[in-house]
Amino acid sequence: MNPGYELPQDEAAYSFGFLDEYAKREVRRCILKAISIPGYQTPYASREMPMGRGFGTGGLQVTLSLIGPDDSLKVIDQGADDSVNAVNLRQFVELTCPGVDTTERTQEATLIQSRHRIPETPLTEAQVLVLQVPYPDPLVVVEPSEARRKVMHGEGDYARLLTKLYEDIVQFDEITISHRYPTRINGHYVIDPSPIPRYDVPQLHQSKALVLLGAGREKKIYAVPPYTNAEPLVFEDVPFRVEDFRDADGQRRACARCGATNSFLDEIIQNDGHGGDQKTWQCSDSDYCDQQLAAHASPTEMRA
Ligand SMILES: [Zn+2]
Repeated sequence: MNPGYELPQDEAAYSFGFLDEYAKREVRRCILKAISIPGYQTPYASREMPMGRGFGTGGLQVTLSLIGPDDSLKVIDQGADDSVNAVNLRQFVELTCPGVDTTERTQEATLIQSRHRIPETPLTEAQVLVLQVPYPDPLVVVEPSEARRKVMHGEGDYARLLTKLYEDIVQFDEITISHRYPTRINGHYVIDPSPIPRYDVPQLHQSKALVLLGAGREKKIYAVPPYTNAEPLVFEDVPFRVEDFRDADGQRRACARCGATNSFLDEIIQNDGHGGDQKTWQCSDSDYCDQQLAAHASPTEMRA
């Protein structure tokens, strides 16, 4: 999007939040249904947005339906506020929602739209997390027919999904799913929690914040309401395991920038100048990294 572009709002009479009031109301009704039946994929009339499907149109429609002039919005992509997708979505909201504040600080946001990560900083009851979803149905890998998948979801029949996980264990000695780990909500529906890493899945369990998941292309909205059980599918003898950031000596790797040893790390490969590659690790959540850095900086460094 051209940063200097301004929507001709006066002439076109765009409503606040781009979508018209009827569209927003319909999305809000679907959100209410999704909250009432935790984990159920509620169909909705996904609108055309002025961006390609697959760029977060599902999450954006949820955000635009909920946002009001008093809200403070944070948009993140892969943990970073400054990646292209996040910047474009934030600019679009700024253009179409006059008066809405945007922020990069997790604590200051009332509404957080995210792709691929849940912020490291624990969310509160006053916050709503909107996740962008490319593929809402975890059963799609084992059953091509949507009609049959609906029956399987209704009956809570996830035997074929469990068989798939079991085959993984037989072949590789562990479950190899890194993202989109199938997670059972409130003891019934199994959801695709969007492409968050395994590391983030436990944050859905008994989350204080409402978590809404929007899939624009697939026209589905589902929710993990506050204080709801969210359990990754596992076997009794094979516990759920999150990403392991230990090095060869068993030491937990630290972020090369802020030194944190309790965050999800991105592996960064840099040329070491001698024709080889050097690997470093850095927090994936850029706001968390900045805050850790600020907290540990000495007063003299802060002044510099
Ligand atoms: Zn860091």
